[in-house]
Amino acid sequence: MTAAWREHRLPTGPGGAGIDVHELDSGASGPTVVILGGVHGNEVGGILAAARLTRLPLPLRAGRVRVVPVTHEAAYEADSRVGPGDGLNLARVFPGAAGGSATERLAHLVTEQLLRTADVLVDLHTSSPDTDMPLFAGCLDDGSDAADRAVRLALAFGAPAVWTHGVLGPGRTLTVARDLGIPAIYAESPVGGVLDERYLDAYVSGVRRVLADLAMLPDETAPGATVPVWVHGDGDVDMFSQVAVGGMFHAEVALMDRVEAGQLVGTVVDTRARVLEHVHAAASGHVVTLRRAAHVRPGTPVAGIAAARPARLGLPSDSLVPSGALR
Ligand SMILES: [Zn+2]
Repeated sequence: MTAAWREHRLPTGPGGAGIDVHELDSGASGPTVVILGGVHGNEVGGILAAARLTRLPLPLRAGRVRVVPVTHEAAYEADSRVGPGDGLNLARVFPGAAGGSATERLAHLVTEQLLRTADVLVDLHTSSPDTDMPLFAGCLDDGSDAADRAVRLALAFGAPAVWTHGVLGPGRTLTVARDLGIPAIYAESPVGGVLDERYLDAYVSGVRRVLADLAMLPDETAPGATVPVWVHGDGDVDMFSQVAVGGMFHAEVALMDRVEAGQLVGTVVDTRARVLEHVHAAASGHVVTLRRAAHVRPGTPVAGIAAARPARLGLPSDSLVPSGALR
């Protein structure tokens, strides 16, 4: 017997704003897993992947899954990273405020109605249209019990890369999850703003693997990357190479390339094909963000580097850890 998806709407208040929640309940005890897409309204890959999950007859055998394909509806309608009314980035205002602006009220609704009753959070993002990130699953890794469980789920997701963070900035969904003591992972992928079947499939399969790891689904999804590249860092701006001059950025490296500090990562050229600037890696590690749109202004970040994960728990230092190693 496969349970059926049900849909209901949670409003932030009078006026129609809110979220549509798709719920699949196994009828058996088990974890409540919340899956969010579209926290950034222009990150369509996460939206469609989440929506596709709600079309699947998942043979859920424990717990329940709550999926919100479009968490920030107004931003989706505006094809924007931020709310069109208040200009706020939903992923920077959690846990939100009941009496705040539209985006803050939305964060409050998600926190109170979804995250507070969740046992696990999966937040599906993508790159922005002008800057690429590789396909990876990320999470907090601060030594807490919830973070250790999140690391395990990030590995179970099966992406070719895992990015763990020692600390989280304020206002994110993962920050609320940390404060609530629940494991949370997020996903990113390249070509933001474009629907690419490879990444849609990776997201749907990744969530299924997470649910299988939680013993909520049978273990029948094809295995993901068993030897992910594992980087660790906090997205510190010191690790981002910025250009000093305006022009067109031309990358000399690819996402996830291993680079050494000072290595050439690209050039800024002008409309006469003259090289105005050589841009160098600010640190040693792997290329985890790379400017895709050529046009740059002075100060535009063009390449972010994350260091290979340091040794922990007796695991090798350069990240070659099979999925399930922390079980
Ligand atoms: Zn995002």
